[in-house]
Amino acid sequence: MTRRRFIARSLALASATAAAPRAVVAATLAAVVPVVRSDDEWKRRLTPAQYRVLRQQGTEPPFTSPLNDEKRVGTFVCAGCDLPLFGSRTKYDSGTGWPSFWDGIAGHLATRTDYLLLWPRTEYRCARCGGHQGHVFTDGPPPTGMRYCNNGVALKFVPA
Ligand SMILES: [Zn+2]
Repeated sequence: MTRRRFIARSLALASATAAAPRAVVAATLAAVVPVVRSDDEWKRRLTPAQYRVLRQQGTEPPFTSPLNDEKRVGTFVCAGCDLPLFGSRTKYDSGTGWPSFWDGIAGHLATRTDYLLLWPRTEYRCARCGGHQGHVFTDGPPPTGMRYCNNGVALKFVPA
């Protein structure tokens, strides 16, 4: 699926689904200049683990990312294109073994529903390069109640 279609589908889903979080709807509406690279180029730029998650929608094993224990003030950016996706203020320990956040940076995440498991889940991607980041659930903490469950290998941390 092209990035444009991905966004268009996200928009359709967001407007059709009452459960879609407000931040996600805003995210799909904001303009981010896309980064488009060939599959070969992505393979050259990314580590095999990054490629598997970002470009093939893989999931890293839980409790393997050093970012689980990252507690400094700073920004978590996309490992594919450096777009800031999460601020450290929204990070929390969900106990799942993956870096978790209760909100993303507005306009920098795009979502869609996937059926890789038997039940529908809301996948989110980097709005700039389309790289798969993780899934968002509604069992997160206040103030949003959302849990962005992110693959650590798909992120880089930039200290403030
Ligand atoms: Zn990206």
